[in-house]
Amino acid sequence: MSDVFYVNPRAEVTDPARWYQPNLSMVRKLEKLIDESGVLDVVSKGDLVAVKTHFGDRGTTKTIRSVFIRSVVEKVREIGGRPFVTETTGLGLTRLRSTAFGRLEIAEENGYTQQTVRAPIIIADGLLGFDFVEVPAKGKYLDKVYVAKAIAECDAVICVTHFKLHMQAGIGGSIKNVGVGCVAKPSKFDIHMSKYPEINEKCTKCDKCIEICPANAIEDYRIVEEKCLKCTGCAEVCEYDAVNLYWTVGREVGERIVECARGVMDINSNFAYLNFLMDITPHCDCHPFSDIPIVPDLGILASKDMVAIDKASVDMYMRAEAIRGALLEKERFWPWTDVDGVLEYASELGLGSLDYRLVEVE
Ligand code: SF4
Ligand code: SF4
Repeated sequence: MSDVFYVNPRAEVTDPARWYQPNLSMVRKLEKLIDESGVLDVVSKGDLVAVKTHFGDRGTTKTIRSVFIRSVVEKVREIGGRPFVTETTGLGLTRLRSTAFGRLEIAEENGYTQQTVRAPIIIADGLLGFDFVEVPAKGKYLDKVYVAKAIAECDAVICVTHFKLHMQAGIGGSIKNVGVGCVAKPSKFDIHMSKYPEINEKCTKCDKCIEICPANAIEDYRIVEEKCLKCTGCAEVCEYDAVNLYWTVGREVGERIVECARGVMDINSNFAYLNFLMDITPHCDCHPFSDIPIVPDLGILASKDMVAIDKASVDMYMRAEAIRGALLEKERFWPWTDVDGVLEYASELGLGSLDYRLVEVE
């Protein structure tokens, strides 16, 4: 059984006339949660510490506020750690979020800069998303996980996660922040695709894919698997629908994420987790739009067990009353996803425990 610590966003306001109560700020409560949960004992003096979060996409407004990230950074510094705030590139080559350059541009637009978070912002898998360390895997689907190099090399990782729903993974919690957020581009490909892309008969030989391919992997209008870096850049630039991509769907996406998370743990398991159950929207932060939150804000959780913290988050979310008229008000999850099944698979792969004790920090 694992401990999951919790701060409630609601305040016992005993005197409504006392309106100025800084101790009730969620920032102060986060600091208290970090202190009393002890989750930052994964950090030692002098450690290089990744504060792993997600900056969202251009136009996203429901990501974790930078003031919370800064609090985590300051707590790491109090211990003597050397924090950096980090994120990885997205799949593809042409979209803004597909490169470190674009990720940093989005970060700045959404309010995350070295000044606001008080730490350097470093994209963990390099300029194009191909800086990784390969880790062997023995899952149902994957035989290799490409862990983002900065994650593999640092001493400790604090996952600061906006808990929300996700149209493919079911939920975006700590497991996803590790399994997707801490891996490089080829693993993101392996999560979403069941095999290498293929060029089909619609090809007009325009050569756009050959020009963009970072691996010179296209020969005679055929993709050479041994050379392909699994980025999907060729499919992005093809205007003739001539590159087949083989998308995975349903529970398999979640299970592939779990296998990636297992790979990350196999090279660096010194992690702590903070789940922010605020603005629990039906879409993930990669979407520039989501509907109103499905339930009111529920608080912040802290744990050193990624399965326990996600299970506790799901249980709290399910117990909360939905906001009338919210998307998924009745269903609660996207119907083709299997949140419980994926949590069970994470537990089976030894990523953590489904049994937890919820400890409220007052
Ligand atoms: S971009 Fe499309 S049409 Fe052009 S060469 Fe490549 S596969 Fe063929
Ligand atoms: S062939 Fe492979 S490496 Fe080249 S652009 Fe396509 S997916 Fe990327």
